[in-house]
Amino acid sequence: TTTVYYDDDADRTHIDDKTVAVLGYGSQGHAHAQNLADSGVDVVVGLRADSSSRTAAREDGLRVATPAEAAAEADIVSVLVPDTVQPTVFEEIRDGLEPGNTLQFAHGFNIHYNQIRPPENVDVTLAAPKSPGHLVRRNYEADEGTPGLIAVYQDTTGEAKEEALAYAHAIGCTRAGVIETTFREETETDLFGEQAVLCGGVTSLVKQGYETLVDAGYSPEMAYFECLNELKLIVDLMYEDGLGGMWHSVSDTAEFGGLTRGDRVVDEHSRERMEEVLEEVQDGTFAREWILENQAGRPSYSQLKQAEENHDIEQVGEPLRDLFSWADETDETDADKPEA
Ligand code: NDP
Ligand code: MG
Ligand code: MG
Repeated sequence: TTTVYYDDDADRTHIDDKTVAVLGYGSQGHAHAQNLADSGVDVVVGLRADSSSRTAAREDGLRVATPAEAAAEADIVSVLVPDTVQPTVFEEIRDGLEPGNTLQFAHGFNIHYNQIRPPENVDVTLAAPKSPGHLVRRNYEADEGTPGLIAVYQDTTGEAKEEALAYAHAIGCTRAGVIETTFREETETDLFGEQAVLCGGVTSLVKQGYETLVDAGYSPEMAYFECLNELKLIVDLMYEDGLGGMWHSVSDTAEFGGLTRGDRVVDEHSRERMEEVLEEVQDGTFAREWILENQAGRPSYSQLKQAEENHDIEQVGEPLRDLFSWADETDETDADKPEA
């Protein structure tokens, strides 16, 4: 059985007298930095000299330095710049890593796929909230927690896990519960989940459903509501009470139709494709593709983004969402703004 760690399992002496360099002040960075600071930990935010994030970090009352300066000063370096720039930023900070320091991540990609090769005399850990940064911050301010993960890749001090737990405590994760995993498991399940189910799978399902209705002559607005808008209501029910909670709440007709038709739409062929996608994650094919894509200036990525933006469902959805003002209140991007 999986052990879940809570506040009482963490020993804050492993972080309270240390300095944490938070590199990056984006989604995760701003949340970790502010939560750590509010927990009484000494924080220095590492940002490049011309960074557009410097003002925000200063306005939030935090000390700002360059990534190299911040890392040189810190005991724990929390690497929260985008995954694609982490190898470059690592080169800037490696000289500042002293024996016994900790290099810490919120996602295992660069360590697991050997894009960052840390020195042998530092601890390498992961402390990752399972949530976007703005929720990590909002929950902390509301005296609530955000579930998280910890992992240890390299333990030279013998205290790597204790320190990761203390960090998870200081950003509020042990309030909700923290599970221990490995860099490999975190990286591979995260990539598979976002590709096959969460981001990729769901958008494909929505687009195919929408196109099927529109091609059969139904109105795009109706197709939009049935195949995209209502998805949130269904997901909310699954989130609260699992699949059973959702089946319980929908009509018997919806339940019977779903139980008899769902597995025909997403069937054993989709399952085989999922296994292929997982293999590409496991054998490094996806990682290689994404690294090369970045080195080439993201040509396919830009093209695919453009095509997605131009999809009919986006053209139909925008004015519809504007018509329904209640949607604004649940729009999480709004909550990301400091004054919200
Ligand atoms: P963001 O894209 O939000 O990070 C942006 C920040 O990084 C900005 O402050 C930006 O500053 C800085 N930055 C960008 N490029 C550079 C550079 N070349 N040198 C120095 N600073 C730079 O990152 P996320 O918070 O999304 O992700 C951080 C880590 O957290 C990743 O490992 C990610 O996988 C992980 N993670 C993210 C989650 C999420 O919900 N977003 C959830 C769980 C984990 P500037 O103004 O200088 O560009
Ligand atoms: Mg991910
Ligand atoms: Mg219906």
